[in-house]
Amino acid sequence: MNWNQAVQVIAGAAVVLLAGNFPSAAQGIPQPTPASPVTASPDPASIAREARGWLADLIKINTSNPPGNENLAAMYVSNLLQREGIKAEILDVGPGRSAVVARLRSSVVPDPSKALLLVAHMDVVPVDKARWTVDPFNAVVRDGYMYGRGAIDDKGMLAANLAVFIHLKRTNAHLNRDVIFLATADEEGSGDASIRTLIAKYWDKFAAGFAINEGGNVFIKNGKVQYIGVQASEKVAVNVAVIARGTSGHASQPTKDNPIVHLAAAVGKIGAYSAPVHFTAIVRRYFEGIAPLEDDEIAKWIRSMDTPDRGEHAQRVVSDASPLWNAMLRDTIAPTVLSAGVANNVIPAEARANLNIRLLPGDSITTLMNDLNKLVNDPAVKLEIQPNAGLAAPPSSLESDFYNLICRVATREFGGAPALPFQSTWLTDSAQLRLHNVQAYGLVPFPLSDDDLKRMHGDDERIPMVSFDKGLDVMTKIVTEFAVTRY
Ligand SMILES: [Zn+2]
Repeated sequence: MNWNQAVQVIAGAAVVLLAGNFPSAAQGIPQPTPASPVTASPDPASIAREARGWLADLIKINTSNPPGNENLAAMYVSNLLQREGIKAEILDVGPGRSAVVARLRSSVVPDPSKALLLVAHMDVVPVDKARWTVDPFNAVVRDGYMYGRGAIDDKGMLAANLAVFIHLKRTNAHLNRDVIFLATADEEGSGDASIRTLIAKYWDKFAAGFAINEGGNVFIKNGKVQYIGVQASEKVAVNVAVIARGTSGHASQPTKDNPIVHLAAAVGKIGAYSAPVHFTAIVRRYFEGIAPLEDDEIAKWIRSMDTPDRGEHAQRVVSDASPLWNAMLRDTIAPTVLSAGVANNVIPAEARANLNIRLLPGDSITTLMNDLNKLVNDPAVKLEIQPNAGLAAPPSSLESDFYNLICRVATREFGGAPALPFQSTWLTDSAQLRLHNVQAYGLVPFPLSDDDLKRMHGDDERIPMVSFDKGLDVMTKIVTEFAVTRY
């Protein structure tokens, strides 16, 4: 623990100690704007206005991970729910870090196999403040967008989930299954405070048969929704160290075993390598669905990817057309960190690189490591799998009632655009849920353009306010049609 971390731990502990004694406003935690009889309305337009305010408040609570400090956001969320008369529980997952769970019951005896879980994470990735045109933690509204770290990933969804949950409570909805709200910590770090710990310590508090989470998107192309990608599976992250060793010595007398030279050659070969294409069932269905939406030329190549004569060429054309498509088709390897050298005039004894590998679910890291070792073919270079490798989860079913309902509602609400099964190249909390038999689906319900999507994890992250309102409305319909009994 360095000094900064120590200060954060102390600050976090102080918040916990203070929480029992003082109203949290005294600690600088933004308080939910009190609901007046006018705003505390079951009317969807009114709750959308309130939800914009909650999103702004959440953006203003800096939960950059590391260190996360989700405690502050957890207290905000729990205060908001309590004010609506919903019992919310803060779950401790580490110093300064917590999750929030709340439940709306359908009956006295819960049936976890039927329950629906609404999931969003409270932490955000760090910012490079100098590259932003606005304060990333001030929820600036400009030209119809709300700017801020987390506006899309994932505080937008967190605010929408809160709004849907509160709407069910205010309307006294007659539920046919329990609906559970869960706000998680450390999603971006996948570390000790992540959903893994939450499941290990508190599974009974949110066990569910179905979940909706981030992971899929409503993709806008040329100003209209092109398709809705409903995430049912995701790739698996593994970090591998490339380590070259040699003899350290005087830089005035170079030797052939300089580890920097060996490492650079190995990274060069790995960087130029493209792993073979493997179609998972979901990716196959995705490409069948996307082909008719693309122009004739690329559609022709998409349809040829699995043919014996033109398949290999077609796979290359499709992969070159889109980094997303490339990564959906194969294991990918991205060198992300290089470290070597202690002084300009010293040959070091060791040089290292990190490879961030994303495996298709079902592919094995051992097979890929064998291929890479053959490719590098250098006894001075070793590859080592790093701790905390991800686990492949089984995909969620594409036949479940919930999957069909999400697709039906989304297509209806987004002007007839098709809903396609989606295997994300990025990680979400859903993999851990799927490993616990939850049929988890990913859909950030806000229509977003490529330009908007690129800003998440980047600079000037923002959400179009009309997309936020529309997404909130669609999410309300999905949850209502799945969990509320109609008369
Ligand atoms: Zn996220």
